[in-house]
Amino acid sequence: MEPPQEPAAGTRRRRRRGGGKNRRKSSSSQQAPLTAAAPPPPSSPPAKRRRKAGADQVAAKPKMGNTASLLDKMRARLSGGHFRMLNEKLYTCSGQDAFDYFKDDPNLFDVYHSGYHEQMSHWPEQPVNVIISWLKSHNASWTVADFGCGNAAVAKNVKNKVFSIDLVSDDPSVIACDMAHTPLEPSSVDVAIFCLSLMGTNYPSYLEEANRVLKPSGWLVIAEVRSRLDPNTGGADPEKFSEGIIQLGYSLVLKDAKNKMFILFYFRKKEKSKVVKNIDWPQLKPCLYKRR
Ligand code: SAH
Repeated sequence: MEPPQEPAAGTRRRRRRGGGKNRRKSSSSQQAPLTAAAPPPPSSPPAKRRRKAGADQVAAKPKMGNTASLLDKMRARLSGGHFRMLNEKLYTCSGQDAFDYFKDDPNLFDVYHSGYHEQMSHWPEQPVNVIISWLKSHNASWTVADFGCGNAAVAKNVKNKVFSIDLVSDDPSVIACDMAHTPLEPSSVDVAIFCLSLMGTNYPSYLEEANRVLKPSGWLVIAEVRSRLDPNTGGADPEKFSEGIIQLGYSLVLKDAKNKMFILFYFRKKEKSKVVKNIDWPQLKPCLYKRR
């Protein structure tokens, strides 16, 4: 009896004999692997010419390489376009709509994040790394909530306990939800982070949620794309944005605008604060990436 791996060799033997008659007689389940492994072209040249064609194929290899790189370029262009479409969607819909959208097709989240990381690779400095350094230079016993964590870089790089929150999760440590409504307890975290994640049209509701879960004297750290907060290019007035957060019950401790691509705000929640209702939040301009 033949060992279990042998049937493949048997298949090869049958294929070499390869008469049309045999093939016609075989069942469809036998035929499928034969067809998949060696599809005979409809006008197969005789053996001699086939060998010559093989030699030509070797000589033509650079052309195949060109085709492959052209295909790669086309694929990259398509996925770049797909990323820009998803990015625009996230900036122009509510958090709830974004949550429902990605829930229907979680693979889109991977498309979004590979495009996002490609874009970010062109930035001289990553805002998330600045925030990680800031956290490392403070208290490792602080509990952190990372709103819109992406690939959870914060949790992966600090000793603190971090609640990582995003729309989709294939990582059990990431809480998948619309961050306007998290399952975190009230007054339970020392630091709330929004690193390039105030994307939805209802972004003030994310800040209100952070306010609910932050302890008194807790830190609210926000990094945003510079152009979204640049009135000279149609962005919001950064003073008006800060003013909204101050009215929510915070003091602005530091505004770091030295980076070319992003602005960082470090707010601290007041011990006791009277929350102003109907805060006049500025609209944040969507951050649309250019085709490279
Ligand atoms: N903070 C990460 C990722 C930034 S990309 C980093 O700096 O690397 C912005 C992230 O915010 C995306 O992963 C997006 O899915 C998430 N996000 C946007 N709106 C959200 C919402 N309503 N609820 C949860 N996550 C949201």
